[in-house]
Amino acid sequence: MQKIGPQNSSQEKKLQSLLTSLGYKYNLHSKKLPGKPDIVFPRRKKVIFVNGCFWHGHTCGRATLPRTNRAFWKNKIEGNIKRDKRVRRELSKLGWKSLVVWQCQLKKSKREVLTRRIEKFIHVNVS
Ligand SMILES: [Zn+2]
Repeated sequence: MQKIGPQNSSQEKKLQSLLTSLGYKYNLHSKKLPGKPDIVFPRRKKVIFVNGCFWHGHTCGRATLPRTNRAFWKNKIEGNIKRDKRVRRELSKLGWKSLVVWQCQLKKSKREVLTRRIEKFIHVNVS
């Protein structure tokens, strides 16, 4: 079973160091925006969420439920998924674009793929 550690932090740091190495400037945890996005690009009106695969129910296979208290975890994670969807809808209504980066995509071996995704997200559809 995978470890259910505290949400984010180390994943977030990985993404931050990637963004910094790419030369991007960003803010952290804007409390003014729905869902308190992890990374905010204020002038571009874009945000990035770093989601733990377990907590946010990623379909990559890391989201296996613990054997005990299954109903509790299932409920909790389904609640998170619903909230994530609602938050992204609210952001888009306010004119913000959002990207979700999953924990499993922050692996070193996937760095190039992730970099391309992020650059595309930041540079494409600038309104
Ligand atoms: Zn995943």
